[in-house]
Amino acid sequence: MIPPIANNFVAGKSPPAALERAARNRNNSIGTILNLLGEHHDDPEDAADDTEAYCSLLDDITISDIDALISVKPSQIGLEVSADRFEANLRRIVDKAAEDNVFVWVDMEGSGTTDVTLDAYESLAREYDGGVGLCLQANLKRTSDDLDRLSDVPGKVRLVKGAYDEPESIAYTDKSRVDEAYRSLIEDAFEHREGGIAVGSHDPAMIEYARQLHEEYGTPYEIQMLMGVREDAQRELAASGVDVYQYVPYGSRWMMYFYRRVRERKENALFALRAVADS
Ligand code: FAD
Repeated sequence: MIPPIANNFVAGKSPPAALERAARNRNNSIGTILNLLGEHHDDPEDAADDTEAYCSLLDDITISDIDALISVKPSQIGLEVSADRFEANLRRIVDKAAEDNVFVWVDMEGSGTTDVTLDAYESLAREYDGGVGLCLQANLKRTSDDLDRLSDVPGKVRLVKGAYDEPESIAYTDKSRVDEAYRSLIEDAFEHREGGIAVGSHDPAMIEYARQLHEEYGTPYEIQMLMGVREDAQRELAASGVDVYQYVPYGSRWMMYFYRRVRERKENALFALRAVADS
């Protein structure tokens, strides 16, 4: 069992707990992106184990009547072992997902992994004709070039502000500058991208901006938010007809993820403490 203090942000330890959460989201017309918690595996066996866990999850998704996708971290499936290992494991997952007709997102980690992740993503997205999507981070100065590079690559792009601390030489470190870059990237995507766009943000200003851009350009888009964050807003957006996906982490390695959520916002810490007090 995950203690009540953490289960606002993490669905549970096992796939059934994650699938149950997805079924609840479906009742609110919200899709679910399932993420098995885990990262920085430098042992190839750990990377292989998580790869197989995703393949088995894909089977579980297919036999249940839920709208669920998966999202995978590159360092969870071998990027810290070698680029080849990462690409082979990602291929195994994407191949299985294509059979099962489930979409695969690839998360983006620290800037040292961007090139390898983009290369593997691009070749698989072309090969599987768009059953995959990639996250790009607005805090990196390179990202508008990366978005251009992916403009005619099938598949979706999830734009986020960026969760990793990066050096000033390659990244915007000032929050207002990151917001400016984020606006500019989503505008560019709505205006020029042929594939899908996901706005991965809880920021009401960015969500409203995406709505305006959709009205202006007619480009389809979806909003993605994390489990446990602005869930009222998620439900309201979904009820108003916007495609909303909730990113739902699960698994035994929940402690570090939960700690990050608490550290990034004091509201999350208070929320968690209230949950303990009420339990
Ligand atoms: P912020 O800029 O943090 O906040 C802006 C405003 O949003 C706040 O003023 C507030 O009004 C609202 N808000 C934000 N958080 C909360 C909250 N907890 N409670 C209430 N209101 C809030 N990053 C990566 O680097 N790689 C990834 O692969 C990746 N995948 C992601 C997938 C999804 C689905 C999401 C939602 C985020 C992902 N991120 C990823 C994280 C992302 O980069 C940001 O660090 C994170 O989303 C915070 O930025 P923000 O745009 O949500 O809002």
